[in-house]
Amino acid sequence: MSLPYTIAVASGDGIGPEVCDQAIRVLKSVATAFGHSFIFTEALVGGAAYEKNGEHLPKKTLEICESADAILFGSVGGPVHLQHEPKWANAERNAILGIRKHFSLAINVRPSKVYSQLSHLSPLKAEVIGGGVDIVIIRELVGGAYFGLHETSEDGRFARDDMTYTYEQIEAAIRFGFLTAMGRPRRLLTVVDKANVLETSRLWRKVAKDIAPEFPDVKMDFMYVDNAAMQLVTRPTAFDVIVTENLFGDILSDEASVLPGSLGLMPSASLTTNGLTLSGSGRSRKLHLFEPIGGTAPDIAGKGVANPIAQILSAAMLLRFGLQMEDEASAVEEAVDRALGAGYRTGDLRGAGAVETSGTTPVGCEGMGTAIIEQLEKITTERKKKN
Ligand code: NAD
Repeated sequence: MSLPYTIAVASGDGIGPEVCDQAIRVLKSVATAFGHSFIFTEALVGGAAYEKNGEHLPKKTLEICESADAILFGSVGGPVHLQHEPKWANAERNAILGIRKHFSLAINVRPSKVYSQLSHLSPLKAEVIGGGVDIVIIRELVGGAYFGLHETSEDGRFARDDMTYTYEQIEAAIRFGFLTAMGRPRRLLTVVDKANVLETSRLWRKVAKDIAPEFPDVKMDFMYVDNAAMQLVTRPTAFDVIVTENLFGDILSDEASVLPGSLGLMPSASLTTNGLTLSGSGRSRKLHLFEPIGGTAPDIAGKGVANPIAQILSAAMLLRFGLQMEDEASAVEEAVDRALGAGYRTGDLRGAGAVETSGTTPVGCEGMGTAIIEQLEKITTERKKKN
């Protein structure tokens, strides 16, 4: 058995704890099958933290995360009609932006995959989805217009938001884009920018061209952001990996997130580019955060019906990027694929009005977790037999 890995679990509010419980079950199953030891430490965040500590991101939570090998994050925030209450006011901003800043999370990774078994849930026509949509969007997270100088004149008739980038900020994102493309069968990297207008975009192109010779096996192309926004809904199958700056990435990744048909399917990773030697095991490592892109879903929270797949796929990304366990990560992803193939469906995957489709089995949050674990056990047994 390898050294134990510590995973900080900041499950947050609403459906966060329910879906995190299923992700933890899956990770425990991975530990058993692959001979690892995972220690889970609970870190309060959001409204749950406010109730106990009067703040959304307590110091204690940051300390727990600091001594972990990776952070599994749920989601934070309350029902929209209660946002004025102190427990919920700015909960998402305080917790998420706070943690992003504290750990210098500089790159956001969002896969957007339309599962063939669920293609009818996509808002796009079958002929547009074609052979399958499988895109990864990489967004630079700490530069660009969101982090430049913001200013409004005293008379309120002039405002500015400066978009700035350094070579190093761009290089980190582009390099990660190439590495991601290298690990995928198509090896295609699209750099999205607005180089016909923006100086920062011209710098993005220069950096991409500087780095490209290091990755001769990756086919790189450039696309203007307005064109990319159109192509994502007219020819989404043409994309493999997209890398782009903060503002464009924010918009394009949200656009891509509706393609699979449910937020319950959408994981993400926020990665730091800083290597840190953290307390705890003493291992030198980069501390990354993994979370579903959806929110706390107050409309279904506590009913046991949330789809845990986004959280479980976030745990798969944790295995891949946080703990460098590629085999384990791909086994979890395959188990999700097979559970869907076997017909297991949470309410969000059963379409409008939750109509039962023949050959499918309705399940709740825990039932979907169990179905995925069963498939995972079969996959690991099959793999062991092969080796
Ligand atoms: P939401 O993402 O919570 O919900 C939108 C819709 O998607 C709802 O109908 C919900 O039931 C459904 N949904 C989301 N995840 C699902 C899942 N796993 N399974 C099944 N259905 C799912 O967005 P919202 O309602 O606008 O926001 C609710 C709260 O979440 C707000 O307080 C908001 O600030 C917060 N929020 C937090 C994050 C985060 O923590 N990263 C992200 C977005 C929103």
